[in-house]
Amino acid sequence: MSTPPLDFGNPADLERLRRELRTWLAANPLPARAPDEPYPVFLHRWHRMLHAGGWVGLDVPGEYGGRGLTALHQVAVSDELGARGAPGVPRIGYLAHALREFGSEEQCRRLLPRMLAGDDLWCQGFSEPGAGSDLAGMSTRADRGPDGRYTVNGHKLWTSYAQHSQLCLLLARTDPEGPPHASLSAFVLPLDRPGVTVRPLRAANGDDEFCELFLDDVSLEEADRIGAEGDGWALAMTTVAYERNALDTGHLSTYGLLVERLRRRARQDRDSLPDGLLRDIGRCVTDYGVLVAHARRRTAERLAERSAGPESSVDKLLMTRVEQRLYETALKVFPEQVYGEPGEILGAYLYSRAASVYGGTSQIQRNIIAKRLLRLPDGDRG
Ligand SMILES: Cc1cc2nc3c(=O)[nH]c(=O)nc-3n(C[C@H](O)[C@H](O)[C@H](O)COP(=O)(O)OP(=O)(O)OC[C@H]3O[C@@H](n4cnc5c(N)ncnc54)[C@H](O)[C@@H]3O)c2cc1C
Repeated sequence: MSTPPLDFGNPADLERLRRELRTWLAANPLPARAPDEPYPVFLHRWHRMLHAGGWVGLDVPGEYGGRGLTALHQVAVSDELGARGAPGVPRIGYLAHALREFGSEEQCRRLLPRMLAGDDLWCQGFSEPGAGSDLAGMSTRADRGPDGRYTVNGHKLWTSYAQHSQLCLLLARTDPEGPPHASLSAFVLPLDRPGVTVRPLRAANGDDEFCELFLDDVSLEEADRIGAEGDGWALAMTTVAYERNALDTGHLSTYGLLVERLRRRARQDRDSLPDGLLRDIGRCVTDYGVLVAHARRRTAERLAERSAGPESSVDKLLMTRVEQRLYETALKVFPEQVYGEPGEILGAYLYSRAASVYGGTSQIQRNIIAKRLLRLPDGDRG
């Protein structure tokens, strides 16, 4: 089963690329996951296979380990992978964008090829126990000594898959007296540095995606800082803006598969499905269409070399709505897939609840839209 490919007015070389990937996928199918294999370890194996095939970092310049093609080529690869039910390349695109926008030439040459190859796995150390939505209020500090070295102290929370990572994109306050948004800086933190403790947290469903990071007098050099002191907020916003694009995350064509199944079921069983359920399916189809239109627009903007901005909050809200409504509807339409093999709909439904939290909650996205896109006044101004 497959959905029609996204239509960007496909240049011929894009179609050729899709064909090459399909041929490669036929010879290199998604490997089986061992019952006791942690999901990130399984994804890492897949990442390595994709990299060996030349399917990672298509829009990254050759000198940084990529193929020097365009964002459209990378999107076409994500689209093909999702449309074939295969996971995309994990946790790369938004980190690579942040590094390229803020990192030095030396950092890009040193860090990007290893990131693309899966030699270094990265995690994101932004949130803290007292700073999630209010990220600028974080208390982790990086104090610079007279020798130029930083000493980092703090506590990070919800750091996904830190226990499987080698490096962390860390945000810390470098100027405790400065205004909150202008006093954050970003660092590459090697997780094996003395003073770093990674402690996995067991979630209610048994997963151990999340970790806590404890940082006690961790020493970092100036070369570990990405961008200038005070660039941390802008770098974090760039990171989450790219993280909010459904095409970057490769989710779009995965949703497309399920939308197609629902649509087929509605056509087949139009007379027997309750009206309410038919309406739900209709809403899924419409929401998905709107999300696809937005994703195309973002891709067109990127091709025109416009960086991701607050518009990405609209995409994140749409993506959350599509994902949550889609799996909620699928649970009702395919109840037999709730439990047992493949059981994938229940798992996806449960994880979809997190979509309105990670990468910034839905309330925060609405605040951004109100303030930065609609320019509405603050609520407390009467
Ligand atoms: C699956 C998943 C993976 C994650 N991975 C990572 C990761 O790898 N690295 C990382 O750093 N973080 C990660 N996070 C953390 C995530 O970024 C935070 O959970 C999120 O930003 C919300 O912060 P919080 O949990 O502290 O909630 P809070 O900020 O305490 O918010 C609690 C509630 O209050 C609401 N609220 C808060 N402020 C406002 C406001 N000003 N206006 C209106 N409503 C408001 C929120 O919307 C929310 O409903 C992950 C989270 C999830 C769910």
